[in-house]
Amino acid sequence: MNSALQCIFATKELSDYFLYNFSEKYINKNNILGSGGLLTLGYINLLLNINNTTNNEYISPGLFKVVLSLCSSKFEGNEQEDAHEFIIYLLDIFHEDINRVIKKPNNDNLKYNSDEISSDKKSVIDWNNFLKRNQSVLIDLFYGQLKSSAICPICHYHSIKFNSFFSLELSIEESTNQEIKLEKLFYEFSMEEKLDRDNLYKCEKCKEKSEANKTIEIYHVPKILIIHLKRFNNNKKINTFIDFPLRDLDINEYIKSNDSVAKYDLFGIINHYGSMEYGHYTSYCFNYHDHTWYEYNDRLVNKIPKEKEKDKIINKNAYILFYRCQDNDSINWDVIYNKKYENINENNLKLFGADFVLKENPKKNLILGEINNITNIDKSEIIPVINIDEKNEIEDNIDKDINEIKEIKKEECKLEIEIKTTGIFSSIKRTKNNTFRIKTFHETRKKEN
Ligand SMILES: [Zn+2]
Repeated sequence: MNSALQCIFATKELSDYFLYNFSEKYINKNNILGSGGLLTLGYINLLLNINNTTNNEYISPGLFKVVLSLCSSKFEGNEQEDAHEFIIYLLDIFHEDINRVIKKPNNDNLKYNSDEISSDKKSVIDWNNFLKRNQSVLIDLFYGQLKSSAICPICHYHSIKFNSFFSLELSIEESTNQEIKLEKLFYEFSMEEKLDRDNLYKCEKCKEKSEANKTIEIYHVPKILIIHLKRFNNNKKINTFIDFPLRDLDINEYIKSNDSVAKYDLFGIINHYGSMEYGHYTSYCFNYHDHTWYEYNDRLVNKIPKEKEKDKIINKNAYILFYRCQDNDSINWDVIYNKKYENINENNLKLFGADFVLKENPKKNLILGEINNITNIDKSEIIPVINIDEKNEIEDNIDKDINEIKEIKKEECKLEIEIKTTGIFSSIKRTKNNTFRIKTFHETRKKEN
């Protein structure tokens, strides 16, 4: 648990959100899939304690552990839990605790025939359906999309499905040369797989079971990419050395959509020592305050000298890798739902389900904004929503920093805006007049320096 927590603390975007942008009123108390805020508030409390310590003084997560065992009987006691399972559980509860969707609509299980509609369109429809039920900073940061396709050997029906994911699970073949490059695992991930007798494919159309070929491909990747190296197979641990890069992981070749993504840099690793039956976890994390790697081994915290980084970190016990997209350096942009303002019209609600991204371009004092996935909306309705000229709504005297907002380009599913600024913004908030409020990031920056 400790090593997994260290990697989650090291996720700067999430920690910044919880420390500087979070408010208790965002807790979705009635969501039965969450913990009513218990686990999230317990975690934030722990994060605050850690943030207020100096010199890497040890903070016991004791209280958090109590809260955790109250939320799930799985984490009672002191038994070693699988770090990957723990991460999935924790991030999922965080998400449901702050899910901005108050009432989830029924899940439409859409099925498509590949001949009827393009993959890109299906991907957008499925992603929008997913967003109708799930909206939080966790989705913004950690979720990507996989495409799985299969052709029924009996009726030749071509089935295509899109699924969201927040941890990429890469299988490892025990290899004789005992060293594999991470890129090779990405390559093998997208290879066609024959579903055999133990795992037959059931056709959606003719309902027959058969040994079809199935392909799973990466379609969209998240800003924070968690890679789970599947070292445990058939009750056995695979000890193959996986050679992964510290910086500049390029996965464009393995993305099957037209996305082009920046390279990824590593910022956290969970290592597993030992066997299937008995194991011990440690972690290496990049500390974003002092830009140094640290080794965390229960109570022991050791600085890793720059010259030893590579040799130490790229090791054969690596089990879970945390990568950050280089394009995501500055700030996570989160549209925060404020329950106070329920008086929003239908179109705005739809827009709210859209994917709002702002990209900072500090050199030109410009912020480029994009609203993606706008499908069912009259584009003429969009402009008033991003009207930020209500100066009294802008906090922190930042009003002088916003010079101009103009629309650059409108396309189907996408609107680009340009905000001329001398400031740095951290989040966008809906206000009572259906405008967005922009909050400065100055305070955070000051704290870091
Ligand atoms: Zn069939």
